[in-house]
Amino acid sequence: MAVQKIVILGGGESGVGAALLAKAKGFDVFLSDKGALKESYRATLQAETIAFEEGYHTEERILDAIEVIKSPGIPEKAPLVQKLRAQGTPIISEIEFAARYTNAKLIGITGSNGKTTTTLLIYHLLKTAGLNVGLAGNIGDSFAEQVITDTFDYFVLELSSFQLDDMYKVHLNVMVLLNITPDHLDRYEYNFQNYVASKFRILQNAVPTDDFIYFAESQPILDELTKHNPSVHQLPISLEKAVSQGGYLDDGELIATNKAHSFAISQSETPLRGPHNAINMLAAILAVQSIGVANDEITTGLKTFQNAAHRLEPAGTINHIQFINDSKATNVDSVFYALSSMDAPTIWIAGGQDKGNDYSQLDKLVDQKVKALICLGVDNHKLVEYFGSKVPVIYETQSIIDAVAKGLELAQSGDTVLLSPACASFDLFKNYEDRGNQFKAAVKNLMMNDE
Ligand code: ADP
Repeated sequence: MAVQKIVILGGGESGVGAALLAKAKGFDVFLSDKGALKESYRATLQAETIAFEEGYHTEERILDAIEVIKSPGIPEKAPLVQKLRAQGTPIISEIEFAARYTNAKLIGITGSNGKTTTTLLIYHLLKTAGLNVGLAGNIGDSFAEQVITDTFDYFVLELSSFQLDDMYKVHLNVMVLLNITPDHLDRYEYNFQNYVASKFRILQNAVPTDDFIYFAESQPILDELTKHNPSVHQLPISLEKAVSQGGYLDDGELIATNKAHSFAISQSETPLRGPHNAINMLAAILAVQSIGVANDEITTGLKTFQNAAHRLEPAGTINHIQFINDSKATNVDSVFYALSSMDAPTIWIAGGQDKGNDYSQLDKLVDQKVKALICLGVDNHKLVEYFGSKVPVIYETQSIIDAVAKGLELAQSGDTVLLSPACASFDLFKNYEDRGNQFKAAVKNLMMNDE
């Protein structure tokens, strides 16, 4: 039989991983990227003698594939994708491809916000329990590449809606859906319902014995569940009321029950603060209960968890004034949860590139918690316009060093200075990581001067 040809569109982490797996499985592989490849990826492909091109797509080398693995970054409306669709070539994601070659049990996590935190926490809890577990998806190393030498019993997969869009047959044993708020609508014909449908693809191959964990106070999730009522073991999470199966918050205590397993811990014993993290922790606890992790191991894992940087990350303390880096909060919803998590008067540093933000959902929290607002970025006038009459002190700057210094000047002992921008970072910074790192460096610098 002739060797079958697989084409990979996009030469990032997932594309290169898929190319390596396809080669290992004996396919004729061709990778094509319209942009430039990272040097290390180019070297990997060359070392494995995998054919590739960069800077353009040569259609005749692509259209004869039996199957195409597409990077989640390439939109459906790209002309080449349209051509492949028109001629009926199957287009799948790297997750779909890699899942064919592993027998590991799969735990999938999606949602508009909180994916990374919850994915890392589930991974950490399973590791703490001594299980043989891998981490992949929209995070870390490519799933496909890990599958080549796979010995894992479990994989925890962070799944973006773009990855879900090109998944068809993957069977997830445990599914987590954290929330659905408008995001990426440019890829969904500006139709929120299309985006909801994409998130719900996480359930497409569920069977009644699988566990589906979801936040029950997310209206779009509830609406969709009412419409379709999937047959799967449902584990709702509530911040408002007790549930017999699922998780809830009761006076600061996280309580999770999954079938016969019950677990409780006070949130104050964990390093994650705020109602959003109560949801994330409950989801993670319910997920590892599905795998049978014992209560004492869950407790140890929760207490020792270190979240990824830039998510309500403590950045230092000067004169009993705490600095918190929440640079990842690039939308208003994230800031809502950040401010909800503050238990001290707050000097709030916000701003950057405004995405058409509607700040009204923050009104109550700002009124209760924010003493001063420091606006940092190209769209300061929008913040000033909205908060001018609502916050006692407003300061504008274009320098993060100045913003941090001003934060210290305005704060009193016991206050918190919070960077939680609600905006994209590309005006003054490379990305949100760069913004968070510069914030932390500025705080460190002030701490040194204070010694
Ligand atoms: P994602 O991977 O989905 O972007 P992260 O875990 O990186 O999610 O968190 C990004 C931001 O989203 C955090 O800084 C926080 O402000 C907010 N967030 C985290 N968890 C939740 C949640 N469960 N619901 C709403 N917002 C959340």
